[in-house]
Amino acid sequence: MQSRDELAAQLGAVRRQLDELTEAAARNDKKMQLTHQREMQLLQADDLGSLFAALISGLRKSYGLEYVSVVLCDPDHDIRHLLLASGTPAEHFPDLKMVESLAGLAPQYIALHQPWLGRFAACDHQMICPNAVAARSIAMIPLTHRAKLIGSINLCSSDEQRFTREHASDFLAHLGVIASFCVENTVNRARLMRSGFTDVLTGWHNRRYLAVRLREELARARRDQSGLVCLMLDVDFFKSVNDTYGHAAGDAVLRELAQRIETQVRASDVAARYGGEEFIVLLPNTATSAARLLAERIRNAISESAFEIPGGEAVAITVSIGIAEVRPGADDNDFKTLGDSLIARADVALYAAKSAGRDRVIVEAA
Ligand code: GH3
Ligand code: MG
Ligand code: MG
Repeated sequence: MQSRDELAAQLGAVRRQLDELTEAAARNDKKMQLTHQREMQLLQADDLGSLFAALISGLRKSYGLEYVSVVLCDPDHDIRHLLLASGTPAEHFPDLKMVESLAGLAPQYIALHQPWLGRFAACDHQMICPNAVAARSIAMIPLTHRAKLIGSINLCSSDEQRFTREHASDFLAHLGVIASFCVENTVNRARLMRSGFTDVLTGWHNRRYLAVRLREELARARRDQSGLVCLMLDVDFFKSVNDTYGHAAGDAVLRELAQRIETQVRASDVAARYGGEEFIVLLPNTATSAARLLAERIRNAISESAFEIPGGEAVAITVSIGIAEVRPGADDNDFKTLGDSLIARADVALYAAKSAGRDRVIVEAA
């Protein structure tokens, strides 16, 4: 039998342990929240200028560091030109270093697969952190593109103990993955904007892009002896949204509409704004039965909750969707005509959906 004192001591020890664990959990919770905030800031940056600002001054403030730099390999000066075209020349970011090659910049680049944490050494790190003052420790977080190293985010602290090899680096590794994704995504987006394939209102691809991709997808379908399905979607009574709430409200609805459709389609599908309030989704290699289910999901995603518009009001929106499919034969060569007729047939099905009362999906009669 244990004495009362022994039990009390044990209980005390368990309580202390519990307190420590609770504190550790609260610290971790705080850390998770901060990590989430940082990553959201990166993900929300929708042009290169705001992304680099989020990566450099955003991370510096959020981590409470003295200095942060970003090194990016840009062999064709492509990113630098895109940055210039977006209205923020690279010179706006003295701590962004775009280089033609990473070779010889810092010894860690030879094998930077994971964040490297350790002592800041001027001889090793001066080239990647040109303006760092009084840095004593550094975390180099790799940036990658298709598993290839393309640069790093360099966090510098005047505290020697801030980044050491003993520190766990999982959070930093995660940040690196998100940042790499954001760089790739934002560069792609900037390229599209320049090429004139992007719809400025929704950020979706436009009709020009659709025309190019439609021909490519038809060629692919012929080669694979598979089909290509076209969904054509049109907002019901959209004119009355404009008439009642104004054009800005109509624009907000179109933007959100594109976002809601986007949550339902796969990366391999081709989605584009075809015209005013008309959207097209091409589904390669998809049976019409599966396409109908997807169309129903899109329709639900739109009708299930009202759209918020500027001013705080909400409008209920529904859409009608027409579906057509084409299976290019071995002798089909005129993809322009084939594509036009696919869209025209989806439009006929859409018209049937409108006539039948709207807020519905109709697959063209076989
Ligand atoms: P239905 O159910 O038959 O499709 O009715 P509807 O009112 O949607 O059809 P209609 O084609 O007559 O109206 C489409 C409206 O979309 C007319 C046009 O002013 C508006 N529209 C087109 N592009 C834009 C845009 O970029 N922004 C806004 N706010 N409105 C647009
Ligand atoms: Mg219309
Ligand atoms: Mg309409």
